[in-house]
Amino acid sequence: MEVSFSREAQMLRRGHGESFHGEGILAITKALLQSGVTYVGGYQGAPVSHLLDVLVQSRAYLAELGVHVEACSNEASAAAMLGASIHYPVRGAVTWKSIVGTNVAADALSNLASPGVVGGALIIVGEDYGEGASVIQERTYAYALKSSLIMLDPRPELDHMVRLVEQGFALSEAASTPVMLQLRVRACHVRGGFPCKDNVAPAISALHLLEGPAEFDYAKLSHPPLTFRQEKLKSAERLPAARRFIVEQGLNEVFAGKRDGLGIIVQGGLHNSLVRALQQLGLADAFGTSELSLLVLNVTYPLAPDQIRDFCLGKRAVLIVEEGQPEFIEQEILALLRRSDVNTPVHGKDVLPMAGEYTVEILARGVADFLDKHTADISLADGRAWLARNAARRDTVAAQLGPALPARPPQFCIGCPERPVFAALKLAQQDIGPVHIAGDIGCHAFATFEPFSMGHSILGYGMSLASRAGVSPLIRQRTLAVMGDGGFWHNGLLTGVQSALFNGGDSVLVILKNGYTSATGTQDIISTPDDEVKERLVDKQESVVDRNRTIERTLAGIGVKWLRKVNSYSVEEMRRTFDDAFTTDFAGLKVIIAEGECQLERQRRVKPWRAALLKAGRRVVRVKYGVDEDVCSGDHSCIRLSGCPTLTLMKSSDPLKVDPVATVIDGCVGCGLCGENAHAATLCPSFYRGEVIHNPGVWDRLSATLRHAAIRLMQPA
Ligand code: SF4
Ligand code: SF4
Repeated sequence: MEVSFSREAQMLRRGHGESFHGEGILAITKALLQSGVTYVGGYQGAPVSHLLDVLVQSRAYLAELGVHVEACSNEASAAAMLGASIHYPVRGAVTWKSIVGTNVAADALSNLASPGVVGGALIIVGEDYGEGASVIQERTYAYALKSSLIMLDPRPELDHMVRLVEQGFALSEAASTPVMLQLRVRACHVRGGFPCKDNVAPAISALHLLEGPAEFDYAKLSHPPLTFRQEKLKSAERLPAARRFIVEQGLNEVFAGKRDGLGIIVQGGLHNSLVRALQQLGLADAFGTSELSLLVLNVTYPLAPDQIRDFCLGKRAVLIVEEGQPEFIEQEILALLRRSDVNTPVHGKDVLPMAGEYTVEILARGVADFLDKHTADISLADGRAWLARNAARRDTVAAQLGPALPARPPQFCIGCPERPVFAALKLAQQDIGPVHIAGDIGCHAFATFEPFSMGHSILGYGMSLASRAGVSPLIRQRTLAVMGDGGFWHNGLLTGVQSALFNGGDSVLVILKNGYTSATGTQDIISTPDDEVKERLVDKQESVVDRNRTIERTLAGIGVKWLRKVNSYSVEEMRRTFDDAFTTDFAGLKVIIAEGECQLERQRRVKPWRAALLKAGRRVVRVKYGVDEDVCSGDHSCIRLSGCPTLTLMKSSDPLKVDPVATVIDGCVGCGLCGENAHAATLCPSFYRGEVIHNPGVWDRLSATLRHAAIRLMQPA
């Protein structure tokens, strides 16, 4: 990846007597090293990408400690990596984005949880839930329940999160059970500090090798008949051991309030939002001290029944704050109180929404409704007025901006190599008719928005080709699957290509080969351009990304017979290739590789390179496209075929043109799509390609003077 984390990598070296300041996710990264972790792996994805990115860029330092780090090809391979802790007393941690990553890892997780571990195994899941989420909205908690995994949900405060990581490994070892550490987006990005400890070089590591493999132990295999015993061990020994550890080590926290008759049980990760809500209701001070008693569940599974019972006993009422559905924790608490014959009234989803993120406002409303039911002593007038003001302000803003501002869906970056492929596909469908398009996870999913609005389904990362398997036999036209190179290596090669070849699928696959796993933060993959190619591509819009042709050779090796490679930016050639693929007599799988480097990565290289040249006073040429206002007819067909944010509209200076004309603003990176589209779709000839020359030389100045003179001669006086 091109983003540099050198500052963060330096912070990982800090030790006793030093302090750490930064984001929660980086604190977790440091905590892993303080816990003596032996190996780390994972698959990137928001909100936990930083963890793996920083560790991958810190490989040299980790090697000094003997810690192995691996950028896994998907979450399943990351989960399987934890198998090292089944036999060997070594601590391991892996990370991914959930729920999607946990779905991919589920098989390995079950097979890890069944035999259990001797070395601490920690799975750091980025819970991508709520308004900023980019995945389906489900709870990872269900996996903890079904596989009897321990689940931590730490209160978002750096010192505390670091302690939970260290305790999480110890808990995993005490209960012989893998531990999931759930981090919401807010917890990953919360900022703060903590006093550092020295990093711990693991006793068994790449520097201190084992003499040989562990003894064969059938009990460590997740195999019947052993799985029957392992299932019993989970409930008879491992979970009770976990509960003992949780209580003895005080992993959950009780904050007694002066209004002790009313209590709130809250998931640790929601603590800060809850305290803020209580502040708005006048029930917490500026330091976060609550007037109501709080039981903060930093471990949300398993619950410690005695602790829950003790907290609820004698209270007038208890509110359970649990985000997402279904209400697993609330149901369990209700059942365990009933079994204990504790009759404290319990509220939860009756006053809080069943689904969606629990923002401060939503929590404040829920707590106020809860208090209304059980006390008249607390004045909620100020809090209710604050909620009403917020609602009124939102209505006012919506009324003012609603008609004026159209919705702005996310977009491909300026100059993205994937945009031209969808422009070509739009044109190709004028020739071949509409096709069923199986979409995938990745930047190319932006094509589901206008002006393309393409894609009938998205079934998972690398799943597009597999997801058309049931459609292809039912439909007259061939189907199209769209996949990125990230998705191809994550899953698509096996679940899609292998299956289509084996089953004789007559369909078309376009692989958008931009060289990186771009959507997750442009991490490197096996087909990422090497440094020499990057150097060569620094100021060229070349199509060759991977000199080794890794994807092409893999496809040929597995048996793909119809394979074409096209420069992504060549719209006309791409259109013809689509036409060929959909009309050829060849009945097997047809693969088109659309090759063009991720523009974001390219610009990260190009911009500093240009800046250095400019600073040195050297000549720099920047290509920029433009629209001749006099020629533009104002029909905007170029915009409908491109969607580039820098190709936009402006008011015409011609009083006879009532419609706005197209214009290219300064952000244009000169990718050439405007010219390609104009040519391929035979648009009006209003586009021009310009070169902006900084620090021009003598010849540049002379030729400009001659050009201007010639133009003046041809213009009427
Ligand atoms: S990150 Fe790269 S591939 Fe993704 S939209 Fe931007 S330029 Fe395109
Ligand atoms: S050439 Fe056109 S599509 Fe490419 S960056 Fe410039 S305005 Fe956008």
